[in-house]
Amino acid sequence: MATQTEDTNVTTQFQQVLQILNCEYERVSGELSKKEAETERLRQAVNTVAAIHNAYLGLTSVWKEEDPGKYRPSYFLMNHKGDPLIPREVVPSEKRGSWGLCSRLVEIENAWHLECPGCKEKRPVILRYHQTFDSPDGDTWEKRWNIYCQKCFLITQVERPAYSPHRF
Ligand SMILES: [Zn+2]
Repeated sequence: MATQTEDTNVTTQFQQVLQILNCEYERVSGELSKKEAETERLRQAVNTVAAIHNAYLGLTSVWKEEDPGKYRPSYFLMNHKGDPLIPREVVPSEKRGSWGLCSRLVEIENAWHLECPGCKEKRPVILRYHQTFDSPDGDTWEKRWNIYCQKCFLITQVERPAYSPHRF
């Protein structure tokens, strides 16, 4: 009888310990889930800001690229017809007359703009252009048409054909 009572006490003590541990487990794992969600949110924010930075940086250098999109993504402004254009202001004036460039240069305010769904301000549509497959039987050029908002830090995809079997 005495033994049974001791056993009951032991069991109760274990139950209390287990209950404490269970509560603590719930608390710390809940905290971890929140931190993980926050970390994931920050990771996405970093990636988005880096992508917007790459797009605007790419616009400033695309005029110098000999084979745009071949080895890494290239970025262009657009007109409504979908022709790739280069911001005139990033090209030194002595280079603007060179063949192949002059027909592509545009004042940025004259490029195709669409409203950012976040801030409702007009932003240029920027083409992200990249060769994703290269073979003698045929290439694949990926085209992504995006509005990159430097105010909302938001990238909005514009519905256009995403792939091309040839350049542009
Ligand atoms: Zn915006």
